[in-house]
Amino acid sequence: MTRVAFIGLGNMGSGMAAIQVKAGHTVRAFDLSEAALAKAAAAGCVSAASAVEAVADAEVVFTMLPAGQHVREVYAETVLANAPAGALLIDCSTIDVESARFVALQARSKGFRFADAPVSGGTAAAEAGTLAFMLGCDEADFTAFEAAIAPMSRTTLRAGDHGAGQAAKICNNMVLGISMIGVCEAFALAEKLGLEADRFFEISSKSSGQCWSLTSYCPWPGPVPAAPSNRNYEGGFATSMMLKDLKLAQEAAARAGAAAPLGATAEGLYALFDRLGGGDRDFSAILEMMRGRIDAA
Ligand code: NAD
Repeated sequence: MTRVAFIGLGNMGSGMAAIQVKAGHTVRAFDLSEAALAKAAAAGCVSAASAVEAVADAEVVFTMLPAGQHVREVYAETVLANAPAGALLIDCSTIDVESARFVALQARSKGFRFADAPVSGGTAAAEAGTLAFMLGCDEADFTAFEAAIAPMSRTTLRAGDHGAGQAAKICNNMVLGISMIGVCEAFALAEKLGLEADRFFEISSKSSGQCWSLTSYCPWPGPVPAAPSNRNYEGGFATSMMLKDLKLAQEAAARAGAAAPLGATAEGLYALFDRLGGGDRDFSAILEMMRGRIDAA
């Protein structure tokens, strides 16, 4: 049994903390939201009165927060000053590479082992313990991080040194955002050309157009029963989240001097879909905009 601290019990963190409880660990949980804390307590977590209290005797500290500024603040104000020496520090939030490297430096200067460990998979995977983790950490520490993460994970891979986990996450999601738009454009064109969607799916999924966005997450309702397109695009991976990740990719590209024009175009299209009211819908719902079913005026 491990003493775990969990800070950030939102859509993702609540499921992840509950999985740590199911694995037999003592989880001291904290969130600014009373409702989130109550939900964590109902799942068997010990609700802490403050983040300081949550980390005070922790062997492993997880954070699952909205953005880089939250992670910087929670680490500066709480974790680094109050976690016991030797605690493993694991940030699972999706944040900018710079913030991840900054927090890692601060943690290292205080003698902590730190990993940026963003995840792939949504709330269902968080609740089932089947997230994919990509880690930025010292190589020597990977085994310890992997063991701490194991109950929440179907796969845990080390991307490289600090910041590499976040780099892998935003590069992966940039591929996903671009490929989904490509698949949606193709369905919309097929429709205009009088080609039946099911026929197009069958042919492209066996041809060089095959990709995850087409064959595992098809935006056109029907061919892939488990895809959110069959549930009116509810649940899944929200457009607002995809937009956040595409913005992070563009910021990283600008800082690194990399050209990512298709990523920029995808960001623009998702920003438009978000403004048109699609923010809470699964990101594959952008098909409706591509088909001209949503008024872009
Ligand atoms: P969320 O907004 O539901 O949860 C964030 C939680 O952090 C909230 O409950 C909020 O009250 C809490 N919080 C904010 N500041 C805090 C502080 N200073 N101290 C304590 N708690 C604080 O967000 P989410 O959907 O759970 O996402 C969390 C992270 O996971 C984000 O970085 C997101 O990009 C990433 N992510 C989300 C998904 C998804 O499908 N939702 C998938 C993969 C990765």
